[in-house]
Amino acid sequence: MIADRIAQIRRSIPSEVKLVAVSKYTTPTAIRAAYAAGVRDFGESRVQDAKAKQEELADLGDITWHMIGSLQSNKAKAAIAQFDWIHSLDRLSLAVQCDRLIAELGKSPQLLLQVKLAEDPSKSGWSEPELLTDLPELAKLQNLNIVGLMTILPLGLNEVQAYELFCKVGKLAEKMRSLGWTNIQELSMGMSADYAIAVKAGASLIRVGNQIFAS
Ligand SMILES: *Cc1c(COP(=O)(O)O)cnc(C)c1O
Repeated sequence: MIADRIAQIRRSIPSEVKLVAVSKYTTPTAIRAAYAAGVRDFGESRVQDAKAKQEELADLGDITWHMIGSLQSNKAKAAIAQFDWIHSLDRLSLAVQCDRLIAELGKSPQLLLQVKLAEDPSKSGWSEPELLTDLPELAKLQNLNIVGLMTILPLGLNEVQAYELFCKVGKLAEKMRSLGWTNIQELSMGMSADYAIAVKAGASLIRVGNQIFAS
C-alpha cells in the first residue's frame, strides 16, 4: 500500500525532483516500508520525536533526515546534530545561532530559508522585503550552508493562486542568485495537496506526508 502510493507519486513527478516522505505522524514500521520502496529522504517536524525514530532506524544507515517543522531556539543544537537538511530556517536570530552552533559542532546541514510570500499569520518565514533586508546580515554568517528556499502555502488558495505563489518563490531564488547567492538552487515546496502544482512551478524537493502514510 505504502509502496503503491510512493510508486504513484514517483510516476507523476520528474525523476530529478526529490521526494521527501514526511514521517512526522507515522511509525518506524511505516518508515521501513517506505524505505523498502526506495525512499531515502524523510521529513520530521519535531526534534524529539525524530530522535526516537532515528535511534530505532539506526540500522538504515543511508537515510537523509530533513527537519521541516518550526524550530525553537533551544532545539537548534539538537536539530543541527540530528538532521542532514533543515528546511525551516525562518528568522535571522535563528540563523545567527545556527552559525555559531555549526562551528561548535563541526556539522553543517544543508539549510533552506523559509519564506512566506503571502500574508499568513499562522506561518513563520521571511516576507520578500524582510529577506532582502536581512540578506547582508545573513551573508556574514559564513558557516551556514544555505542552498535554497522553502515555503508552505496558506490554506484555501485555488490552483492558479497556488501556482503563482510557488512561481514567486522561484523568482525570489532567481533574484538572490543575481545578487550573488549562487548556491540558492533548491526549492522545497508542495505537500500532499499541492505538490503537482509545485513541481510545475519548479520545486526540486516536495514534502509529502498524508498521501504516503495516511490510513
Ligand atoms: C506536515 C508537513 C508536510 C506534509 O504535509 P501533508 O499534507 O501530510 O503532505 C509538509 N511540509 C511541512 C512543513 C509539514 O509540516
